[in-house]
Formats: sequence, structure tokens, C-alpha cells
Amino acid sequence: MCGVIGILGNSDVFKDLYQGLLSIQHRGQDSAGIITYDGRFHTKKGNGLVRDIFTPESAGRLRGRVGIGHTRYPTIGGGRGEDAQPFQVNSPFGIIMAHNGNVINYKELKKELFEKHHRLLDSDNDVEVILNVFAVELASERARDLEPRHVFKAVDGVYRKVKGSYSVVAYIAEQGMLAFRDPYGIKPLVFGIRADGLQPSYAFASESVALNIMGFSQIENVAAGEVVFLDRSRTLHRKKVADCPHSPCLFEWVYFARPDSFIDNVNVYLCRLELGRLLAEEIRKENLKVDVVVPVPDSARDAAIEIARALNLPYREALVKNRYIGRTFIMPAEDKRKSSVRQKLNPITSEFKGKKVLLVDDSIVRGNTSRAIVELVRECGAEKVYFASYSPPLRFPCVYGIDMQTRTEFVARNATPDQVARKIGADKVIYQTLENLKKAVRSGNPKISHFCAACFDGVYPTGDVTAEMLKEIEAERKTAHDAQLELNI
Ligand code: SF4
Repeated sequence: MCGVIGILGNSDVFKDLYQGLLSIQHRGQDSAGIITYDGRFHTKKGNGLVRDIFTPESAGRLRGRVGIGHTRYPTIGGGRGEDAQPFQVNSPFGIIMAHNGNVINYKELKKELFEKHHRLLDSDNDVEVILNVFAVELASERARDLEPRHVFKAVDGVYRKVKGSYSVVAYIAEQGMLAFRDPYGIKPLVFGIRADGLQPSYAFASESVALNIMGFSQIENVAAGEVVFLDRSRTLHRKKVADCPHSPCLFEWVYFARPDSFIDNVNVYLCRLELGRLLAEEIRKENLKVDVVVPVPDSARDAAIEIARALNLPYREALVKNRYIGRTFIMPAEDKRKSSVRQKLNPITSEFKGKKVLLVDDSIVRGNTSRAIVELVRECGAEKVYFASYSPPLRFPCVYGIDMQTRTEFVARNATPDQVARKIGADKVIYQTLENLKKAVRSGNPKISHFCAACFDGVYPTGDVTAEMLKEIEAERKTAHDAQLELNI
């Protein structure tokens, strides 16, 4: 999971890119980068948070009314500074590119690019593969000045070769800015307009919240398999180049996206309320006696409020989060994850003592975090601890860009909810059904007919995920985890 922003503006875009990246920092806290263009490219990338990488000096140096920004959470590759996006090639024209997603035939394409096209890829970042495949396709058009048809054809070439999920923003020097979503539209991508000059400014972003914060309106989705191209004169061209069923990632609504964002026209906040309402129906069937509903902050808050309302129970924010500690989900080593829960969450003991507590979380992944939270609540003297997850059991690796790619890591793999409850030390675990998760999203946009739900049901929408590939990706992840661990020691 990463965040991407591209702006074609009327004055220096650095400030907007910086503000926009801050608003999607939750999509990746590992590294960030910005490249701007004013006749030449200006680059700044590094490891860490947006506010730490960019300084007032960056504002003076990153000049240009065009730019791309990225905030990264590593999927393929480790967390090295040189793997930070955006990436750049100098031919044809000079192209910069950033993406959100994961290329699953990355190794094969990297090899092919070297052997067939004599292009050496110098990082472990899969956007470099997309960028070079695109550059090869674009160069084969042999155009002096690009027309939309050249760009559409080059992206068609990318679609034919690059497998996986990718929402891409790119700028071709003096030719125009483009954005495209993979044929299944797994990862989100939106664009908007701002009237701030003789011609409007345009911006692309992973989440609508970034466009809101930068003052862009008339927000639209880039469709699955669609290319949006703004040419030299800023005329907007759109073409649906691939025609596969749009299958957006269900986890965006569960956890990744900010509640104030719209993903494929579905407001994340309203969707989480609906998830709470639907989960309350499942909880009611269990006939549990509950004294208090407590969310695991922050993502579970909206659903938990709705569960408490629907079940007519008190709602208490009795786990207090220290916001200055990184996401435990992202921390690689198990012992780190464990101790980080204790540093991150502190209980208000009086809200738990002698009570039957219903904890609500967005999901249960490996179970370590959930187990640590249950332990914490028991230590406060809770009589019973029930654990409700407003997403279904996670059982299969995500190959599309989320770091939960090792099958053996899932606590729900080959386990019933009661077995999961025993593993995390809860008295009962109640999951959302997959049917209800889809229903909640469709309540915001009934037109979405397909989803990527692969981490729940093992059905990969791109259809080209082999057992061999899963093994390779798992091995790759393990190496990346180990490398990250070394960096963190
Ligand atoms: S496998 Fe899960 S997390 Fe990955 S893209 Fe699909 S729904 Fe999203």
C-alpha cells in the first residue's frame, strides 16, 4: 500500500504536493519522494515521514509547475532509500513515474528488460519495471511529439505485459501528464480540477482526501483499465484501454483509506458505519451479555460506535493510543510488534474492571496484536473479553501490495472463529461475513459488481497467480522483512 499524487499546475507545485502527501501519510510511512519539473527534473527522496524528509530548503529547490509525489510502504524490495519513488528514465523525452500496487511478474520482466532491451533496473522497486516497460513501448512509437493515441498504445503494452495491481501517475517531459489504473482497477486513483489560472490545474491522487486538502474539486475516478492523458496544451483525453471487470480492493474500506475519503464513490466513513450495523446483527445472534463496547483505535471507532448504537450498549474509548508510535501491522519482528502494542495502547482500567467487554477491531491478521490487547484488557480485571472483527477472517496472502503475504502468518488460516478465540485468548470471536462486507460497500455504490476479496476467499481477480508465484512472493517478503529488521536494529 502506497500513496501517490501528481499535479499539473500553474505555479510551483511543491507546497501542494507536500500538503497532499501529509494527508495520505497513512498509506505509507517508510519513505517518500517528490520529483518536480521546470525544464529539468528536481528530486528529493528519503526514508521516513514526509515532514522529516522535506525541509524549507526542499521548497526552494523543488521548483516547477509539474510534479509527482509518493509515500511508500514497501511491498516488493526492502525499505532502502534508493527504492523510494518516484522513478525517472531519461528516454524517450524523460519520464517520471510513481505507483501504488504490486507487480507480480516483476522478476520475469526485470530479466526481460535487461536481456531484450538492455535496460538495467537498479532498484528493487516494481515501479521501475512499469516505467521501463512503458518507456520501451513509447519509444517504439517513434513519435517526435506525442499524440494521445501514442500514449494509449504504450499503456496498452503495459497492460499486456505487467501483471498485478498498479495505479500509476507519470509525467513525460514537455509532452504531458498521464494516469492509469490496472485493468481490474484494484487500487484507487482519482483526479480533480482547480481553477487557479488561465487554464485549470489538474491533480491525481490515491485518495480523494488529498484532492480536498489541495483545493481540487469535480473529483472523478480513473476507471479500471482507463488512461487519462493531459497533453501539451492541457487538453484532457480519456480512453478505456482494457476491459476487465472492475475489482477494487475491499480492504481499502476496511482499513487502508481515511474515513473522509471516497473510494470508487463510496465514502469510507459511511461504509464503516454500515459494517458496524451489519456486524451488530451477527453479534445479536450470539446472545452475549455485554456491558461495554470498546474500539481498538483508530480505524475501528466508526464501526464500534454503530455496533454500540444498534445493540443499545455503552460505548467507551477505553484504550488510549499514543499516536507517535508506528503501526504495529507494519513492524516486521514479532517481538517488536508485541512490545509496541504495550507502548501504543494504554487502558483506562475502570472501564474494564469487572465488565463483559466487546472489543471491536477492523481485522485480525496474525493474531499477535489482538492477543496482546486481550491480555491487556484481562489484566484490567475484565470478566469476559469478546472480540469482534468488522472484516471477515483473513486467510490468503495479498499479492497486490499489502504486507500480509505469508500464508502461515494468518491466525485464521485453517481455524474456526472459536479456535481463533482460543489462540488470541478471547472468550468469543465474531467475524463479519464476506457477503456483508460487500453489501456494506455496495450500499454506497450499487454499481460495483466485482471486488478483489482474495485475502478473504483466495480468488485472485487477475487470475494469473500460481502456487509457484505465491511461494516466490513469500520468499521475497521474508527477505525484505529480514532486511528491514537489520535496518531497524
Ligand atoms: S488481496 Fe485483500 S488486501 Fe490485497 S488487494 Fe485484494 S482485497 Fe485488497
